[in-house]
Amino acid sequence: MARRLSAIFFDVDDTLYSTTEFARRARWNAVHAMVHQGLRLPVEVVRRELDEVIAEFTSNYPNHFDKLLLRLPRESWSGTNRGLIIAAGIMGYHATKQELKPFPDVLPFFEQLSQQTDLPLGIVTHGLEIKQAEKLLLLGVVPYLHPEAVVISDQMGISKPNPKLYSRACARLGLDPTEVMYCGDSPAHDIDPPNSLGMVTVRVRRDNRFANVESATPPDYDISSFDELVPRLHEDFELPVGS
Ligand SMILES: [Mg+2]
Repeated sequence: MARRLSAIFFDVDDTLYSTTEFARRARWNAVHAMVHQGLRLPVEVVRRELDEVIAEFTSNYPNHFDKLLLRLPRESWSGTNRGLIIAAGIMGYHATKQELKPFPDVLPFFEQLSQQTDLPLGIVTHGLEIKQAEKLLLLGVVPYLHPEAVVISDQMGISKPNPKLYSRACARLGLDPTEVMYCGDSPAHDIDPPNSLGMVTVRVRRDNRFANVESATPPDYDISSFDELVPRLHEDFELPVGS
């Protein structure tokens, strides 16, 4: 007998778009903007120092570029206004957001689900409220999402990998976790916690740092693109998707 499926939730970073590629381009654009604004160092040198700052202070620290300038030799920016160099870096970084694009399989999958089924689609993401919300808007996925089913860890006071985050998301739609699917790229954040609640788990194997890492408990499905999930939804859950 087909298993019942009542909703699908998604991770965001490196599941719906390449966070890894975005960060690489944004840092590169930031460093180029700083050098263009008068910072007298090779871009590769500044780029390596910026990578270190982000690794040391985490990606959600708000003053990366101030710290970066503190760490560079004063001669590299003396005679210029340090505020202009920092602002150029911040602007270069943020301008890259306008290029944010979902993986090519994402919007067609969301479109197909919304056209052919009445399954609510949702998000369970780990990160800062406005930063994660901005990504959803830029990716163009918001029109497909159930308004009650956008769950951002910072808004909940619960972070991944605490299973409570996923059970709260299911509870918001009044659904038992066993009838909700969760799709994500991180073995420890996206597979093991929802598995512990009996959710249907989908490992989305994007080309990133988790590519060769396995979860402690196996996912129900292991895919590299949502295209591969469509026939599974049709056959295993008798959903009217695919042709
Ligand atoms: Mg992720």
